[in-house]
Amino acid sequence: MRLKRNGSYTLIGKSKGKPNGKKPAPEEKKLYLEPEYTKSRITDFEFKELVMLPREIDLNEWLASNTTTFFHHINLQYSTISEFCTGESCQTMAVCNTQYYWYDERGKKIKCTAPQYVDFVMSSVQKLVTDEDVFPTKYGKEFPNSFESLVKKICKYLFHVLAHIYSSHFKETLALELHGHLNTLYTHFILFIREFNLVDLKETTVMDDLTEVLCSSSGSSSNGSGNGSSNSAGAQNHVKER
Ligand SMILES: [Zn+2]
Repeated sequence: MRLKRNGSYTLIGKSKGKPNGKKPAPEEKKLYLEPEYTKSRITDFEFKELVMLPREIDLNEWLASNTTTFFHHINLQYSTISEFCTGESCQTMAVCNTQYYWYDERGKKIKCTAPQYVDFVMSSVQKLVTDEDVFPTKYGKEFPNSFESLVKKICKYLFHVLAHIYSSHFKETLALELHGHLNTLYTHFILFIREFNLVDLKETTVMDDLTEVLCSSSGSSSNGSGNGSSNSAGAQNHVKER
């Protein structure tokens, strides 16, 4: 069976708007770990169940469909802050204290800025997911032997992009009120790569603190009615569909 490869939830809102937030004092602690932000999601889907391979669906077909969808969503999420991710603001592709380098086809290490790195990621993934020999869409066409290793590579790079948004552009994401989308996307993505062991645990360590908070609570969504916090900021726990 061929699965249609498109998105399941949409990114709502002003992707072009400028954050209007005043500049908060530079802080050492990670803003994205603040409980008032980590609890923000756009849906209460049970992602743990959602990522599981459905019966009667071919594994490669499932990996292809999900990987393509994540690529589109992560690309879209990055595009909301891309105007702030410049060669000056992000001179290297950094996530917390980890730095990533791009490697060209011959394995040569390339030093690049974050926007260049993301561009390398997005264009090479785009090339793969639209290559009929790698991600076949036609009935009867087989997946290549290298398919799983390519999916792993794609997921690793998509993880870098997500992690960079958190570590360097969370303030802008917050100002755009898109942190609920980011958290939802991240949770869904992490549970997916975990389910199929797609990314080395070493690779994701850099974001373990966030993963712990977002993914362990996923499911037992504590958005119950009797939440006593009544400060005015509490109203933005959910980015509502409008
Ligand atoms: Zn950046």
